[in-house]
Amino acid sequence: MLRRKMCTASEILADIKRRISEKESEIGAYITLNENAEAEAELVDNALAEGTELHPLAGIPIAVKDNISTKKIRTTCASKMLEDYIPSFDAAAVEKLRAANAVIIGKTNMDEFAMGSSTENSAFKVTRNPHNPDFIPGGSSGGSAAATACGETILALGSDTGGSVRQPASLCGVVGLKPTYGSVSRYGLIAFASSIEQIGTLARNAEDTVLLYGLICGHDRRDATTVNRSYPDFAAKLRNNLSGLRIGVPPEYFGNEAEDTVKAVVMRTLHAMERNGAKLVKISLPGVKHAVAAYYVIASAEASSNLARFDGVRFGRRAKDCSNLREMYVRSRSEGFGDEVKRRIMLGTFVLSEGYYDAYYKKAKLMQLKISSEFDSAFESCDVIAAPVFPVKAIKIGGRDMSPAERCAADICTVSANLAGLPAISTPCGKDGFGVPIGIQLIGKQFGEQTLLNAVYGLEQIGGAGND
Ligand code: GLN
Repeated sequence: MLRRKMCTASEILADIKRRISEKESEIGAYITLNENAEAEAELVDNALAEGTELHPLAGIPIAVKDNISTKKIRTTCASKMLEDYIPSFDAAAVEKLRAANAVIIGKTNMDEFAMGSSTENSAFKVTRNPHNPDFIPGGSSGGSAAATACGETILALGSDTGGSVRQPASLCGVVGLKPTYGSVSRYGLIAFASSIEQIGTLARNAEDTVLLYGLICGHDRRDATTVNRSYPDFAAKLRNNLSGLRIGVPPEYFGNEAEDTVKAVVMRTLHAMERNGAKLVKISLPGVKHAVAAYYVIASAEASSNLARFDGVRFGRRAKDCSNLREMYVRSRSEGFGDEVKRRIMLGTFVLSEGYYDAYYKKAKLMQLKISSEFDSAFESCDVIAAPVFPVKAIKIGGRDMSPAERCAADICTVSANLAGLPAISTPCGKDGFGVPIGIQLIGKQFGEQTLLNAVYGLEQIGGAGND
């Protein structure tokens, strides 16, 4: 519509802003709004009026998770520790958004330092599920998913360390892509567990997803883990590939850990794909039953190291009126971090300490290798692997509380893709009895994003729904 001059970027922005003013008091998706958005949209309108060629995402509103650095826009990680932090630089992914003239709407709510699956661990606010505000939106990129789902943005960036793009995408009924490790630069992403996390996308469909992923992927010399390779033109190659697609179905993801409603909706979706030409292949991934344990050891170990910089001296808030150095460290960290972050730092410090390193950390790293090689073998007989995303019933805000351990267990379906560095996508396929969406997850081969995106696109062509 922009290109056909049926609307202007400023009008699109005004529309999104109107939606934000209608919805935000209920949904609570944003921590900070970008005060410069109007000027960014005007720039696009002027350039288009002059006939300048612009990227397809020019003038398109995009929300950014609040752990991704944005120059001159506050970036808090939903933590008191970084409440007043205004970065002096953009993350690599944000540089690309700006270079494409996308309009950054604001910074979205999340679990503090991306630790959690519900967005309830934010130090600042509650985000509600737009499909049923009594329920969590999932997390940790809950603000990005909720904003995308209810029209408070068109697209959003999130980050996925163990499921944080896919889980909220599933619960909010949008498409969430966790790319292959090393395909998107982590430069400027405030680190939680550097060896397994990636910036990912939240969008309403496959076509929007390819545009955003195609923009942010690529080599970056400032992140030595990014792979120097060429990427296809994902948008040009988007097509329905259901016919002949071999979908691996591992019983390990459809066992007792998953609720019946979730299993039923996901299985019905798989059968619909089968009726449209896909082949369901039985595969086995015995190692995934240990994935949650390995993930929490590795992620917490890395978190304890990454978060050591927030000491009130090098980074982060400093407690006032301390009488000595030790008190300053202790109080700055005690006041700045919430309970979940403290739990992870303690667990991580423990598993890395002398005497426990071999017993926990080393074992977890071996398990990670085993899981990776099981995926490699499984991909000899299939193109993608199917699983639920969030295996349990949606959780009410402030309702039936799950213990921290039960919440970790609910990451069973998502963490393996992170441990193995594989791309994975969640796309809507039904709803539960409360109207909360349910997603299906497809895990791909390394750099197999196109196959995943084409499968999601194919599923969209057949209606996508697994409900009766
Ligand atoms: N739920 C997982 C955790 O709490 C994943 C978080 C994430 O992907 N950032 O660690």
